[in-house]
Amino acid sequence: MHALKTGLIRPAFILLIAILIGLSGCTRTPQEFKNKILAFGTIVDITLYDVSEEQAKKAIQSIEADLKYMHYAYHPWKQGPMGRVNMLLAMNSSFTANPILVDLISQAKELSIKSQGLFNPAIGKLVALWGFHQDERPPDPPPEAAQIEKLLAELPGMQSIAIDNFNMNNTHPQLKLDLGGIAKGYALDMIMQTLPSFNIQNAIINAGGDLKAIGNHGDRPWRVGIRNPRGKGVIASLNVKPGESVFTSGDYERFFNHAGRRYHHILDPRSGYPAEGLVSVTVVHHNAATADAASTALFVAGEKWPEIASAMGVQDVMVIDAQGRTQFTPSMHKRVDFIVAPKEVIERKLP
Ligand code: ADP
Ligand code: MG
Repeated sequence: MHALKTGLIRPAFILLIAILIGLSGCTRTPQEFKNKILAFGTIVDITLYDVSEEQAKKAIQSIEADLKYMHYAYHPWKQGPMGRVNMLLAMNSSFTANPILVDLISQAKELSIKSQGLFNPAIGKLVALWGFHQDERPPDPPPEAAQIEKLLAELPGMQSIAIDNFNMNNTHPQLKLDLGGIAKGYALDMIMQTLPSFNIQNAIINAGGDLKAIGNHGDRPWRVGIRNPRGKGVIASLNVKPGESVFTSGDYERFFNHAGRRYHHILDPRSGYPAEGLVSVTVVHHNAATADAASTALFVAGEKWPEIASAMGVQDVMVIDAQGRTQFTPSMHKRVDFIVAPKEVIERKLP
């Protein structure tokens, strides 16, 4: 009799415990932490999902310290590590580079060569001539054509830098590095790698519209908007897969107007002038440094962007051209949802 009773009670008791555990699992809403910091000359939005407050606070402190240090270290014109490397590169003899720069400069070199020199971070002198190296560009007119011609006559490329471990040597007398087209991407790759050590598996960091995600937003993927290059708000949205980055280069990010013309900060190394033909280029890739460099390179490439995308190993690309048309690779077309109806859509297959 007694044995029978306990025999019945035990399964019921176990079932109750199981339901309670199940319920507590269902009702626990994962916490989301958001924070804004100022780094890389922009507002950086950090969203951490399914973390405790303690983890989040620690991680945000670390992200902020890292981003601020990297911004300083990669700044081409200040007295930090990059400033020192630029000074030593100008001496055309071998030197030991600060370790924080070696991998970044190696990746910049590789991506520059793949882009056929359209992404060319060796053109620091040209960027400076245009005045885009300063945080606030003075309201000067564009440079004289003769000054641009002079720099173009001997334009340096990344192949002039030899890298052997921490040793670097540059053979080009006019070379000056400006990593503005890749540093933010590289920094996001570095930051995202540190998050698992804070036990954070789901996060998105958005640095002024350029972003990288890890994990998901609960049972949904992270979802982001693509900014309208000629108006307010976003024109489209897409889901970001775990580990993916989304980078956009546009003529609206830094520019000045002079005599009725817009001069923006993405320079065509072939002409010495701001690149023409496209308004914005968005690239999705798992490596943020690649997405960053490729968005700049494809912007410079103009109509022949599919060729450069293929050479740089990027598949998901969305372009808005000067005629207001939206151009897509077929894989990107599938994943983008329009919020504002596009004027005209063109699919461009990669060669
Ligand atoms: P943003 O930094 O505004 O997101 P980009 O990633 O396209 O935009 O980088 C633009 C910056 O890269 C410029 O401000 C300049 O410092 C540098 N740059 C300009 N033209 C080129 C180029 N052809 N190749 C490499 N870097 C460039
Ligand atoms: Mg870029």
